[in-house]
Amino acid sequence: MNCEILTIPCLADNYAFLLHCNTTGTTALIDVPEAAPVLAALAQKGWALDMVLLTHHHWDHIDGLPDLLAETSPKIVGAAKDVDRLPKLDIALNEGDEFTVGDLKGRVIDVSGHTINHIAFAFEGAVFTGDSLFSLGCGRVFEGTMPMMHESLQKLAALPPDTMVYSGHEYTLENAKFSLTIEPDNAALQVRIKDIKRLRAAGIPTVPSLLSLELATNPFLRAQSAESFAKIRTAKDSF
Ligand code: ZN
Ligand code: FE
Repeated sequence: MNCEILTIPCLADNYAFLLHCNTTGTTALIDVPEAAPVLAALAQKGWALDMVLLTHHHWDHIDGLPDLLAETSPKIVGAAKDVDRLPKLDIALNEGDEFTVGDLKGRVIDVSGHTINHIAFAFEGAVFTGDSLFSLGCGRVFEGTMPMMHESLQKLAALPPDTMVYSGHEYTLENAKFSLTIEPDNAALQVRIKDIKRLRAAGIPTVPSLLSLELATNPFLRAQSAESFAKIRTAKDSF
């Protein structure tokens, strides 16, 4: 994929991302926790903002939009089924719908569970997961059911293993501590935790991560049944 992707830390522990198509110069933002860091990144790169892709309705993913729209005029893209809770959409999409960011082909995956009608945006080599799949974790199941969240994560697990996972929060170190309680003997996990500690000590984001590494180390993604997923998710809620 001929593109550049910027990870933009926002608020206390959120991430927004800029996806820039090198061929056409088209730029999309994924989620808007706040406007200032996004505007600064756009100015620094000299990019104009063409699209905003929204993963879900929670405030820490959309509240920066009014300030952003005061300075830019992108098309707003989100889940058709969640129009009542999302900011006003220009393009409303459903599961399986295809769309483009310049020359980059994207596809919508319904990953309901954290919220109903939470969507992920999958491109060749990159998926933007919002609060569904995290590095070594997954979002809390607020609106959906445990089987629903399990199914959503399994859809992400089925993407090509060399896909980079761009998730919406820096929760990785806490997730790592929990993951070790589920799989204390997982050698790949032990190695990964050392890397995570080194990165965080240096103030470096642990997002994105490689899907193949999540498949080897993320207990929420590795749960083989909805029942075992539910057990792990419930344990994490009170960790
Ligand atoms: Zn959320
Ligand atoms: Fe969030």
